[in-house]
Amino acid sequence: MNTIVPLVDLKAQYERIGPEIDAAMRRVVESTGFILGPEVREFEDAFAEYCGVRHCVSVASGTSAIELALRALDVGPGDEVITVAHTFIATAEAISAVGAKPVFVDIDPISYTMDPALMDAAINDNTRAVIPVHLYGQPADMTRIVEIAAHHGIAVIEDAAQAHGAEWRGVRTGALGDVGCFSFYPGKNLGAYGDAGAVVTDSDDVAEQIRSLRNHGRQAKYLHDQIGFGLRMDAIQAAILNAKLPHLDDWIQQRNQVAQQYDTLLAGFDLARPVVSAHALHGWHLYVVRTTMRDALLSALQEQGIGAGIHYPVPLHLQPAYASLGYRSGDLPVTEQVAETCLSLPIYPEMTTCQIELVVDVYESATHALAVSTT
Ligand SMILES: *Cc1c(COP(=O)(O)O)cnc(C)c1O
Repeated sequence: MNTIVPLVDLKAQYERIGPEIDAAMRRVVESTGFILGPEVREFEDAFAEYCGVRHCVSVASGTSAIELALRALDVGPGDEVITVAHTFIATAEAISAVGAKPVFVDIDPISYTMDPALMDAAINDNTRAVIPVHLYGQPADMTRIVEIAAHHGIAVIEDAAQAHGAEWRGVRTGALGDVGCFSFYPGKNLGAYGDAGAVVTDSDDVAEQIRSLRNHGRQAKYLHDQIGFGLRMDAIQAAILNAKLPHLDDWIQQRNQVAQQYDTLLAGFDLARPVVSAHALHGWHLYVVRTTMRDALLSALQEQGIGAGIHYPVPLHLQPAYASLGYRSGDLPVTEQVAETCLSLPIYPEMTTCQIELVVDVYESATHALAVSTT
């Protein structure tokens, strides 16, 4: 079956702003400045202002953003970093990459983000930082998380890879903790045409350290005062992001409208719809419902050409890659239950009412077919 409604539709976005993208790419090609340079600087300034922080340092990906944030805060071997298991593996990989140990805590069953009480309980003498994930575009409970972290003197690094433009009590993600990490992977709310990421912070020291680390520890052209990495953003990605950033708020607004239409059309269905926290402005990166018939519904939707997905089917504490940490099934009951029942429906700014209705129609007939087949 061909895809009728994809999970994300980057082609539809390009059809709307193609000339702006083409001009941005041509600018870079004609300048022949492909790494860092004025486009990158312009994007960093614009994105820092957008987030409401003093500094933005662009890097090669969201994963490297988290890794460099941890390095800049001097987190390393022997240290523990608290995060969640219901996220993309990159959150934990970055912790492992610096030699620290990821400590997974369970999530809140309504917001699907870190449960602050469990974070508090997991803090010990080795804990150096906490990485809440603003999953699906919804900010974690940053009031409590920042309060608890401050009380214990540990750093807060936001994984905002899915939450560009989302807000908590009127403050944009990235500006809520000590350091904010963004991904511009093509399918994210603000996406490049390849890998790209950024770190945002109010700290001069952290920004300066990441600026050095991403560029081989370079102080001057041939002078390196520390051993760094090759994790810069390239100018084509920055030019594309410069073209897209002015549209971001409209896109989030349009995503919000798609979510509202789903909410209306799915009311009365036997499923759990997303719940927006009282203090949150949701970025609607994903529209995720929960249903006990998840696997059967996913196949039915896909067979009918609807690009549904699962974010994420196997929690990190149960991934083979993390077997050595010794977690077992049952350790994070909410995370495990959400992993078994969550289903992501298509959402993107250009999605039409017709397409939304089609997704809901297919969903409805699939649930009826399944109900008949099980009675
Ligand atoms: C996409 C993503 C990342 C990693 O970003 P990359 O740019 O792909 O390296 C990290 N955390 C979360 C929650 C993500 O969704």
